[in-house]
Amino acid sequence: MMSEASEHKDGALRHVLVYSDRLASYDFGHGHPFKPSRARQMMELLNRYSLLDGPDKLVIVPGPIDEELLYLFHDRAYIDILRNSERGEFTMKMLEAGLGTEDCPVFPGLWDFCLHAAGGTHRGAMMIAEDAGPRVVFNPVGGFHHAGAGHAEGFCYINDLAVAIEWLTGRGRRVAYIDIDVHFGNGIRDAFAGRSDVLCVSIHESGMSIYPWSGFVEDIGEGEGRGYTVNIPIMEASDDEVYLYAFESVVPPILQAFRPDIVVAVIGADTHREDLLGHLNLTSIGYERTVRTINALSPRLLLTGGGGYNMYKTASLWTLAWAAVCGLEPVDAYAGLIGGMMYGPESQSGTLRDQPYLVSGNTKDRCFEYARDMVASIKKNVFPIHGIG
Ligand SMILES: [Zn+2]
Repeated sequence: MMSEASEHKDGALRHVLVYSDRLASYDFGHGHPFKPSRARQMMELLNRYSLLDGPDKLVIVPGPIDEELLYLFHDRAYIDILRNSERGEFTMKMLEAGLGTEDCPVFPGLWDFCLHAAGGTHRGAMMIAEDAGPRVVFNPVGGFHHAGAGHAEGFCYINDLAVAIEWLTGRGRRVAYIDIDVHFGNGIRDAFAGRSDVLCVSIHESGMSIYPWSGFVEDIGEGEGRGYTVNIPIMEASDDEVYLYAFESVVPPILQAFRPDIVVAVIGADTHREDLLGHLNLTSIGYERTVRTINALSPRLLLTGGGGYNMYKTASLWTLAWAAVCGLEPVDAYAGLIGGMMYGPESQSGTLRDQPYLVSGNTKDRCFEYARDMVASIKKNVFPIHGIG
């Protein structure tokens, strides 16, 4: 695996952030938990912490994806329904395709939002596939891992990840997908479960306690793809220690065995203990260390935001993630001077990182026991397929 040092050329562009105010301004409607404006908060933090300075970094504004590229993954009939959904007439076909539901509302600008969000991830895939391209591209308004080929679900309409992975594999790139969003990426699972040329690893809250109620450890892919879908469910209430144990027992060995050219990752921040939808107990400590491990395992890395429903925490965790992939250490002392005007409670401002928080007692024991069972199952059923002893 190529080391960071050997790849580095002075003055070369290495880190690209995909961002547009237009994309961050879309609104899924009052009360909907998915808020694209998290990306704007992250931008403010990145500027406050001076994490966008230097010739190795570039911010690009995404354009719309070429509609034809959507058909690398999506059904034409579904795209027709999605494109027409904004016309104001509500049809049965829309409902059957998951559109106009509480989770996937039809809002003004939906089609434009979808094209630009997928456009950002696709632009990232194109850049990262170039020999002289950047090592990392991050599209915070990307990572719609629940969308199916013919339907919307779980706040996801277009599966930008599946489109990008299809595009990259079509160019002969070996792609590993790593998903650390609290929700299982069922859309990606369904897209690639039968293939051995794409490794899909997901660590998520167990489907026993959260949507999409799937992604169990026994699901290791099918047919030729057996062993190339790797699910690491984590019991609700698990903390950094349990999470890091499971992640670090499985992901590094399997990535090293698979030897991808490119890693496509979803770094949803909804594993955080203050998230509004997830039930895990991660802090910035576990999250940051996980992202640093992913970064170290990735010759090239296409990052997408995914979920995260505590606005300030999500913006903070993504800021830490960006710093991690750029090899930077954000320093809180300077940022604190500006104060907490923009982010609500004063206690939340002025620091990106959390104090340690660990679960104890019976709950901790049960979480650890569950994690050990999951790791043992993967070692028994998946590792041998990859020749890992
Ligand atoms: Zn999620």
